[in-house]
Amino acid sequence: MRITGKTRVAALFGYPVEHTLSPVMHNAAFDHMGLDCCYLPFSVPPETLRQAVESIRALSFVGVNLTIPHKETVIPFLDALDKEAAAIEAVNTIVNREGRLTGYNTDGKGFMRSLEELGVNAAGRNVLIIGAGGSSRAIGFYLSREAKALTLYNRSREKAESLAADLSSTGGEVSVAADLGHLRGFDIIVNATPLGLKQCDLLPLDPDALEPTIVVCDLIYHKTPLLSQAEAKGCKTVSGAGMLLWQGALAFELWTDRIPPVEIMRSALLSQTD
Ligand code: NAP
Repeated sequence: MRITGKTRVAALFGYPVEHTLSPVMHNAAFDHMGLDCCYLPFSVPPETLRQAVESIRALSFVGVNLTIPHKETVIPFLDALDKEAAAIEAVNTIVNREGRLTGYNTDGKGFMRSLEELGVNAAGRNVLIIGAGGSSRAIGFYLSREAKALTLYNRSREKAESLAADLSSTGGEVSVAADLGHLRGFDIIVNATPLGLKQCDLLPLDPDALEPTIVVCDLIYHKTPLLSQAEAKGCKTVSGAGMLLWQGALAFELWTDRIPPVEIMRSALLSQTD
């Protein structure tokens, strides 16, 4: 990569950021498009987030991505929020337009694109999301509007109840499951918990309850034990790698106003995950 006197910076703010795959994906895209930009990860402890956001203006960054734990807490430091980010109440992308910082959320849309490209259509389907954290909220925002019915399950039920109440306001049918004893009737199941990040983690559901007609998705980037077990049961599976790719492609488009080179970004990601 060639750094010049005019190179502009896009960045990731998170804590920690050491595990991130975003730099390789975005730098491959900038390089391919001949854009004089580079993407850098910054480890930003929560107490320095305000100064880090100020630096976007001070150093004329193109924009940034945000990851755990900054997606919600960054909102008060921004000048404007896109409609969907406001509804989701979380921001994963900031665009710097001449010092004015606008927050967007590309996570949910990225997940929907990852389903679409594999021919999985949530319209008119019964969908279950396991987990009620930030990513569940982001994908739930789209799934609750698209699906026939959305069910949430979370180990702390109050959090699922509260998210269901928020998502119901989008007009969709959203309910909470007390347990995961019966999976019959669901067409699409999404694991939005960190269970599976480690191979020794418990499974988020009992694979014996899976029917081969169910599409099983995991937001974790690699092939989790859940996805392996679902495949063994004959289910179609979707990993979180597609969501990572598409949320990044949508952020790239917001920063550059250019059509993102998705296949270049995908190959860059695959080179890190194979
Ligand atoms: P989060 O806001 O911290 O929420 C985590 C959720 O998982 C909560 O509902 C939590 O339940 C539940 N949970 C945590 N540990 C659990 C356990 N041991 N057993 C059962 N439930 C547990 O996290 P997030 O941002 O939503 O992220 C969730 C997953 O999605 C992570 O693995 C992350 O890597 C992945 N992700 C992927 C992408 C992508 O681009 N592919 C993007 C974002 C996130 P409680 O409410 O009871 O604590």
